[in-house]
Amino acid sequence: MAAPARRVALVTGGGRGIGREIALALARDGLDVAVGARTREQVEDVAAAARVLGGRALALELDVTDLEGIRRAVARTETALGPVDVLVNNAGIAEAAPFLKTDPDLWDRHLRVNATGPFLLTRAVLAGMLERRWGRVINIASLVGLYGAPYVTAYTASKHALVGLTRALALEVAARGVTVNAICPGYVATDLVWSAARNIEAKTGRSFDEAVASLARINPGGRLIEPAEVAAVALKLVWDDATNGEAIVLDGSAPA
Ligand code: NAD
Repeated sequence: MAAPARRVALVTGGGRGIGREIALALARDGLDVAVGARTREQVEDVAAAARVLGGRALALELDVTDLEGIRRAVARTETALGPVDVLVNNAGIAEAAPFLKTDPDLWDRHLRVNATGPFLLTRAVLAGMLERRWGRVINIASLVGLYGAPYVTAYTASKHALVGLTRALALEVAARGVTVNAICPGYVATDLVWSAARNIEAKTGRSFDEAVASLARINPGGRLIEPAEVAAVALKLVWDDATNGEAIVLDGSAPA
């Protein structure tokens, strides 16, 4: 009997932080992974680390705001690894600004990267998933995809849009072998939080460590979440046929 085909995953923004952790967790669990990011260097490293874990891996230059680039990246993945079974829409940006300093460019940038990017990527792979009657779309949203927070209107609106996309599409594809879910973490220990802390440091005169601690305290669990905890939830979603349309909260309440 032929060996079952290996599942193929495509992870956006996979060069560092949560995306890197998810790509490596998937590789460790036996998936072949295409890792996309705007700069090749970081994803080359992640792809090399994924190969060490035993699977096939591909480093892709991929800007999630570039439709042609998305088409090329999906085609390259299909040629090198096979059709995409698991799409992880992880790439994201987060810039804080009071509402009156949120200019239209900042607003558009957040919607383009955090909401339209996942929309375009999902459109590029969904038909194949439905044809094969197996697929996973995992959207890395945020707690602010579900609740409000001050000084991040554009980010909050873009993550609400991503959760909305998740819930609507999940219903549309239900019972066809494809699930669509969102993971909604609070503050996670990555560059995104370090740069928010530097911003607080510059604006308030508080130290970097105090700024990080103040962000950690906002999480209901009172601590930063580790990227590996997000990756563990993503992995569960890959192997779970039954969870669909969920926005899974990760708030640091589990013991670290
Ligand atoms: P990060 O800044 O380390 O990672 C974001 C990644 O997205 C980077 O690799 C970046 O290069 C990439 N990216 C940005 N714009 C892109 C574009 N146009 N095309 C392709 N890639 C692009 O931060 P992270 O914490 O690892 O963030 C990963 C995801 O998790 C993001 O969607 C973020 O909103 C979400 N998230 C993060 C936190 C947190 O506190 N760190 C909390 C909730 C949700």
